[in-house]
Amino acid sequence: KSEGRGRACIFVPEDEQRTLHRVNIESMIRESLLEGHFELHYQPVVSMGHQMIVGAEALVRLRHPERGLMAPGEFIDIAEETGLIVQLGEWVLEEGLRQLSIWHREHASAIYLSINVSGKQLQDYRFVRTLENLLSRYRIRPGYLILEITESMLMHHTDHTLEVMNRLKRLGCLLSIDDFGTGYSSLSYLQKFPLDILKIDRSFVTDIESNKTHRALVTAIITMSRSLNLRVICEGIETAQQMEILKGMRCQMGQGYHFSKPLPAHQFTTQYLPGSYQ
Ligand code: C2E
Ligand code: CA
Ligand code: CA
Ligand code: CA
Repeated sequence: KSEGRGRACIFVPEDEQRTLHRVNIESMIRESLLEGHFELHYQPVVSMGHQMIVGAEALVRLRHPERGLMAPGEFIDIAEETGLIVQLGEWVLEEGLRQLSIWHREHASAIYLSINVSGKQLQDYRFVRTLENLLSRYRIRPGYLILEITESMLMHHTDHTLEVMNRLKRLGCLLSIDDFGTGYSSLSYLQKFPLDILKIDRSFVTDIESNKTHRALVTAIITMSRSLNLRVICEGIETAQQMEILKGMRCQMGQGYHFSKPLPAHQFTTQYLPGSYQ
């Protein structure tokens, strides 16, 4: 008994602290949605052959008046747990498509936009309709939108998720499996879902110079993707050497600090889309 009480003294405050933290972040997310404190940063996706920009991935940030710029690691899990990700995800979609329409129209650019979508959003029956409305409002051809869904989300899919993905596919959007290689999903997943792109997780790229197993795995994934007609993006490329190795493996597209960090919209525009028809 006394031991139990002693343990309770250690665990309860920690538990309370965690709950408090959660509640704080939750109300911060709610408030930020109302006050417009979220913003998107964009990381270029380049073709490995010519190192030309072909697309951008939208990554959400929270610009908090007191705490400064917060990365998704600080709030995305809590948004997910509380279901606020549905509302936040809708904001991300709208803001991303609004920006993409400016790039397409005013900069005569034809880049793709990748947007991260959570499993909760895919379970929401309004998702496809919302997306359809946004695409028509901003006059974007669906083929320029890539929806990224993590491998672990796909592993917890339901029949409904698959149905939504099939509808998104019929709409003409491109579907990408994110963080591939980390979820131990079976290869049958690649045929079960209507996928267009496979994104190899950063953890395989980070040590590609020194890790033979990772080199073999990445080579195998790229070869397999070709025969399944999937395009491949390698993420987390930080050095020229990593880029050369992946290029040698015939990886088509890459992303990472070697090319650029995620940038605020205005900076992305001036750096990557200089031509303006304004
Ligand atoms: P992710 O989708 O795997 O995004 C890639 C993450 O790696 C980003 O972190 C990016 O800034 C970082 N990164 C890019 N290049 C490099 C590199 O060369 N080296 C290293 N070390 N890191 C690199 P970020 O922006 O902090 O986002 C973290 C995660 O949060 C994302 O992982 C994604 O799962 C989630 N996320 C971000 N935005 C959204 C969103 O709008 N909706 C949802 N549902 N999730 C989001
Ligand atoms: Ca992603
Ligand atoms: Ca990823
Ligand atoms: Ca990730």
